[in-house]
Amino acid sequence: MLTAVSIDANNEIFFLAYGIVDTESTESWTYFFRNLRCLFATEGCHKDDWTFISDIMRGVDAAIHDFYPKETRRICCQHLYFNCKTAGWSGSTFHKLFWIAADAYNEYVFEKAMTKIKEHDVAPEKYLRDVLEQWSKKMFDSKVCCDHNTTNIVESFNSCTKAFRDMPMLTLLEAVRNWVMKRVGSRFDKAINMEPDQLIEYAQNILQSRSDDSRFCHVTLCGGGGEREFEVRDRHVKFPINQDLMTCGCGKWQGSGIPCKHGLRVIYHQRLEPTNFISTYFKGAAYKATYARHIHPMANPTHWPSFDVPQILPTNVKRSAGRPTKQRRRAPHEARKGKRHKNNWNFQGVEA
Ligand SMILES: [Zn+2]
Repeated sequence: MLTAVSIDANNEIFFLAYGIVDTESTESWTYFFRNLRCLFATEGCHKDDWTFISDIMRGVDAAIHDFYPKETRRICCQHLYFNCKTAGWSGSTFHKLFWIAADAYNEYVFEKAMTKIKEHDVAPEKYLRDVLEQWSKKMFDSKVCCDHNTTNIVESFNSCTKAFRDMPMLTLLEAVRNWVMKRVGSRFDKAINMEPDQLIEYAQNILQSRSDDSRFCHVTLCGGGGEREFEVRDRHVKFPINQDLMTCGCGKWQGSGIPCKHGLRVIYHQRLEPTNFISTYFKGAAYKATYARHIHPMANPTHWPSFDVPQILPTNVKRSAGRPTKQRRRAPHEARKGKRHKNNWNFQGVEA
């Protein structure tokens, strides 16, 4: 079963499509993406500059590019880290520096972590610089307003539907449809009474925690002129803010679509309402549009009307040896769940 999922305003799974294929290959992914594109076109959506992130899968890259030539690719940092580990670059310090670079919203923090990596070994630094896909948060397009750099969302979808994987084909399809129907149904009910400008729970929580942190920041300079520019001091570091463009030197505001603690300091200083400085993606109108339609209940197959269509025969299944896997395919040297990484790339006294 091949699936495409996305993230809604509340940072939860929005299920897009699923399809059954005989085997995983460029051909089967091509079939999947061709139909995904058709599905969007049927709904009147011709957007082709989507951002994709996927697990390591056979044939997915070529297939995506065929149907979405303007795509942006992100690579799952969890996988990227394991590639590094396979190459022999591991240990708690490398792990820490890698994740500082991956989660950096700005050039400064990114470069600092990369320099520290290079000081110890030039090879991993070169390898990471040569990665074609976007992986560090500072590389992401601010228009996307989504700062995910792992495929955890896919993992959580897989664990939700794991119980169905052993079922016969039609039962599997029906179980997934039912699962999606229930989820969409409850969100449809939630969206119905939402005000267009109402902030979604996910954004509210982020706003709350950044708001708490903003207490330690100080607005040191208010710029004049047409543009509302400010300088905010966070302990010993200063960050320039442009309130009109909704940007901060730390990169988090534009990267996440929600004001960072520095931005919030300015907003409170100006006695303005933070909700007005949050991307519309996190508001009621967007959530309502996402769940504008729900999946209608379906009758029992015995009650289905009969159609004069040719009978679809099953495909020739190429069955591989053993039981079908339920777990995500892990990279050869990827640690099993819960196992700690070995500390064999250790050097001391390095803090990013
Ligand atoms: Zn900031």
